[in-house]
Amino acid sequence: MSLDFDPNPIALPSGHYIGGAFVDLPGEAIEVVRPSDHQPMSPIHDGGKAAVERAVEAAKAALAATRWGKVSPLERAKVLHRFANAVEANGEYLSRLEALGSSRLISATSVRDAPRTAGVIRYYAEYCDKLEGIVTATDADTLSLVKNEPYGIVGAVVPWNFPLITAAWKFAPALAAGNAVVMKTSELTPHSLLALASIAVEAGLPAGLFNVVNGLGHTTGSAIVRHPDIRKISFTGSTATGAVIMTQAAQSGMKPVTLELGGKSPMVVFADIADIEATAAKVATGFMDNAGQVCTAGSRLVVERGIADRLLEAIEARCRAIRPGPTWSEATTFAPIISRRQAERIDRLVRQTIAEGAEARIGGTPLEARNEGSFYAPTILEGVTDAMTGFREEFFGPVLSVHRFDEVEEGLALAAHPTYGLAASVHTTDIRKALKAADEIEAGMVWVNQHGRGPEFTFPAGGFKASGFGKDMGRAGIEAFTRQKAVWVNYAQ
Ligand code: NAD
Repeated sequence: MSLDFDPNPIALPSGHYIGGAFVDLPGEAIEVVRPSDHQPMSPIHDGGKAAVERAVEAAKAALAATRWGKVSPLERAKVLHRFANAVEANGEYLSRLEALGSSRLISATSVRDAPRTAGVIRYYAEYCDKLEGIVTATDADTLSLVKNEPYGIVGAVVPWNFPLITAAWKFAPALAAGNAVVMKTSELTPHSLLALASIAVEAGLPAGLFNVVNGLGHTTGSAIVRHPDIRKISFTGSTATGAVIMTQAAQSGMKPVTLELGGKSPMVVFADIADIEATAAKVATGFMDNAGQVCTAGSRLVVERGIADRLLEAIEARCRAIRPGPTWSEATTFAPIISRRQAERIDRLVRQTIAEGAEARIGGTPLEARNEGSFYAPTILEGVTDAMTGFREEFFGPVLSVHRFDEVEEGLALAAHPTYGLAASVHTTDIRKALKAADEIEAGMVWVNQHGRGPEFTFPAGGFKASGFGKDMGRAGIEAFTRQKAVWVNYAQ
């Protein structure tokens, strides 16, 4: 059956989702458009401090009424499994809503974003009764316990590029660990997360434990970060915003933060790869998936000189074979850019890099308007040096720079980045080179012979240096929503 759908009749949630209900509050209207054709969706309103205050009060009331953090872990797990079941039951609606309002293609949201959102919730449901504490070594007649406790109310702020999944990476472990959540989705892509929060409550999650407020970053996002009763902040977004959030969290009660930020990730390809076509496919997906709007996008190809030209020809053939189009058509293989502003930014950075001396092998321009949406041509830049804009700045678009090397050490030196350290991939059939590269590259995630995470939920995502700190997913992802309490018992007398 075709996955194509008519974008117009889809029901759009509206208002903030607070205390188990959609709530309209006064606030500046924010226009929301479909990235595929820039047609308006229902607008949202900037909730600001008032909406965050309402959400915090709802979270407090829910924690007091349910004692969620002390509810038996098996009971919490049961509720989260019901939530996951409901996400699966609403899979078609959620995958369409996600494709409609973001740059994600229906061919991806139907098999990845929506089912994996359910999978993340299920994965953390299973963790509810597995967060063991420790008994530390002590003298006789004393007992020293280290317990994992929830924070209470946690705040989360997420970006627009994978609205459901990046949110699930945060609310699912936070709820499983016994917290209540106040979350802001991106002002560009609010609808799918609002729908998801209402599905949670319909499935039996007590109202008030999962609240979603709408608004801009410097108003509503900042109100979450600064709220005195929110004890921890988990953020995914740009490095610049991460720095503001870290500062504000420090000034507002010294809140701990988890920061998943930007990247400039290398794909290192050695000449001994088994199959040029297969590696070209991985590299092409690495920088073109979601039109490069992926935090871990492989934006720098570091390739051994002997195979560089052949590999690049095979990658270019894939660039020419893209089918840009609306996200709601199964035939589309190449995503729109989220907004005109973002498309203009990509173009500005590319032009600046070319003006500084780089050369475009292919692309380097916006694609002509399709359905009024913004599309940017797959772009491969040669001659990018580390002094150039295209080396220093994250494009967050389908742009790849090429760097050639002869010796392993030279390749690893080129893979290093002075600022970012989010992810990297190494492509080789030589296990020694692969492991040496994985040791040497300063990045929070390294893949060998693939670029990008697989469907597993166990792989912790997060970066080094200006790409942030802390992890989403895996065991570390739930530990991020607990704090350790040490209890000392003296039973000598
Ligand atoms: P952004 O930093 O502009 O915005 C992210 C979120 O933060 C939005 O909801 C925004 O409203 C909010 N925000 C902005 N200013 C704020 C403030 N002062 N206080 C609180 N909240 C504020 O990022 P974006 O353009 O939405 O997303 C793209 C960026 O996200 C890229 O840099 C990308 O690399 C990064 N990203 C990282 C990961 C990861 O796991 N490391 C994943 C996805 C995206």
